[in-house]
Amino acid sequence: MNHVVVVGAGLAGVRTVEALRSRGFGGRITLIGEERHRPYDRPPLSKAVLFGDADTSYVGTDLAAIDVDFRPGVSAKSLREGVVETTEGEVGYDGLVIATGAEPIRLPGDGPQHVLRTIDDAHELRAMLVAGARVAVIGAGWIGAEVATAARRAGCAVTVIEAGPAPLAAAVGAEIGARTQRWYDEIDLRLGTMVDSVDEGGVRLVGGEFVEAHVVVTGIGVRPAVEWLTGADIDLHNGVVVDEHLRASLPDTVAVGDCAAWWSRRWQTRLRVEHWDTALNAPEVAAASLLGEDVAYDPVPYFWSEQFGHMVQYAGHHPAGERLVYRGDPAGKWSAVWLTADDALAAVLAVDRPRDLVQGRRIIDAGHRLDAERLVDPDVPLRDC
Ligand code: FAD
Repeated sequence: MNHVVVVGAGLAGVRTVEALRSRGFGGRITLIGEERHRPYDRPPLSKAVLFGDADTSYVGTDLAAIDVDFRPGVSAKSLREGVVETTEGEVGYDGLVIATGAEPIRLPGDGPQHVLRTIDDAHELRAMLVAGARVAVIGAGWIGAEVATAARRAGCAVTVIEAGPAPLAAAVGAEIGARTQRWYDEIDLRLGTMVDSVDEGGVRLVGGEFVEAHVVVTGIGVRPAVEWLTGADIDLHNGVVVDEHLRASLPDTVAVGDCAAWWSRRWQTRLRVEHWDTALNAPEVAAASLLGEDVAYDPVPYFWSEQFGHMVQYAGHHPAGERLVYRGDPAGKWSAVWLTADDALAAVLAVDRPRDLVQGRRIIDAGHRLDAERLVDPDVPLRDC
């Protein structure tokens, strides 16, 4: 293999480039990125950057020092075997990494609608979160909750409009989501409410009501950024379909990060995880697979969210669980754990209880069973249950 092309210069793309070099790949590497910025981390965008505590979140990789031909501001438009067609002409390859991430879903309507995906989005939004501004956040998922946190902190009058019965309902279920509802004080939280359109001056709800807002932020989820692969001879289904080695159906091609739907040996299902830990760690496997090594990606997925002064952390795959058990006080620090039919731990969600998260992730990895009766006592460490 002489020339690897990496499409997408987010965390997954840049980590794959690093992994290729650290594994001794000495050929050419071209890194193509639609954004004009060098690679950066996205989690701080909805936290430190939006709060005004930081302006940038660049990844510290020196691309020139590892001899990478980085092409910012260039988009891949289409793919045929051996050639990526870009906005600046064709680029031939003999190894391909697809790391194009995900893009926010927008709602219908002609009114100004902000999303939060890029550093430019974050700066634009930050400038509008000023005291007294009326801010409508559509979606009480991870991003919506973090934007609402920043808007409230900035002194805005915040309305959060959520179609589901509770915040985070789509991500972790309505029962757990309902436990976070108490965090929305001083926020006009509208649950079970559908948006019709984003119009000039606010949001039109289904049923006709109009919610006035100076700023509308849509945080209703993302979709894998794989449109440029339409028509290519590669399996796509909820992203790029890859095996447990992160290999796509096209020869000498791997996909990694938010755009990749990989086969999980552990959970015996296909997973596409839109979280930082995957973009950080899966690239080692993607690079190894591309170089012909036999390694599998089989993590216990992990993510975190910082909202309303709480650290929310999750590990595992809760659809594999059948029973939900709570630990701790819902008004304070608590955790929820999902157990399988035979009392193995499938997933853990910890609110301000980082030990439960760390221990839970290890227990899931090891496949140990827990004693459900000991589990309900928050003073018993998870590892002793
Ligand atoms: P991306 O970061 O999306 O990078 C893909 C890159 O590819 C982009 O720069 C894009 O412009 C480029 N690209 C797309 N199409 C093309 C094309 N055709 N040609 C060339 N380039 C292209 N996760 C957590 O676990 N915890 C958090 O607290 C958390 N907070 C977040 C906050 C925000 C605001 C956001 C947006 C995400 C957050 N995440 C969080 C998720 C995490 O940041 C993502 O999972 C991670 O960024 C995925 O990395 P990626 O490299 O796969 O994709």
